[in-house]
Amino acid sequence: MRFMLATGNRHKLGELQKILAPLEVLPMPAWVELPPEDIESFAGNALGKALGLARALAAGQPAAAGAHGVARTHGAAARAAGQGPADLFCLADDSGLEVEALGWAPGVTSARYAGVDGPGADAANVARLLREMAGCAGPRARRARFVCSVVAVAPDLTEYAATGYWWGAIATAPRGEGGFGYDPVFVPEGSDLTVAEWPQADKDQASHRALAGRALLQRLRREGLLDGR
Ligand code: IMP
Repeated sequence: MRFMLATGNRHKLGELQKILAPLEVLPMPAWVELPPEDIESFAGNALGKALGLARALAAGQPAAAGAHGVARTHGAAARAAGQGPADLFCLADDSGLEVEALGWAPGVTSARYAGVDGPGADAANVARLLREMAGCAGPRARRARFVCSVVAVAPDLTEYAATGYWWGAIATAPRGEGGFGYDPVFVPEGSDLTVAEWPQADKDQASHRALAGRALLQRLRREGLLDGR
């Protein structure tokens, strides 16, 4: 079995490649357009992306638009939806941060919490989070969790899903250079350091994405899809 990951985020790709090794996790082709993440649950958004990738691969790469609309490359066009390579599962994750004191916000809107897209988004999101939490003192009031839902869609479009939760607290100021997103302000339970101060290998063992990935592998193993791996 091989996976293809429905994301343009190279951090997520790298993390899931390590979490799911020795199974292969391929990047998706650059031409694939994923559906918008407009569903109110992590699992729903992950499923939408995995199915979006499966359908895009089945339809094939759009070629030059002709007088009668968008043509598709030959070969891929001949494949009906759900009939990609027999060993290729389309994988997607949706993840985010939930803070108890904020009614579990930012949740599914974590990536665009501050309304900024592109390179400055992470810093703007962290700055907004710290502003919103200015009145929350102590680890109990600053309790939070990272959530990750992963979904793998088989070539016959059967869906396999799993979710992981990583509990911790929000620091009062960003610290560390590693990771991405809210890592500089997330202090996992049992640690004094933010995730951005952790070695990446330790994050890959403990994170919400690792927990979800391992649960997914267990599920696939139970279904007899992993050949004893
Ligand atoms: P997604 O691409 O919709 O899953 O967006 C996830 C967003 O949640 C990211 O842009 C980050 O802001 C945040 N996030 C998810 N996982 C992590 C993580 O492992 N570290 C830090 N932030 C994360």
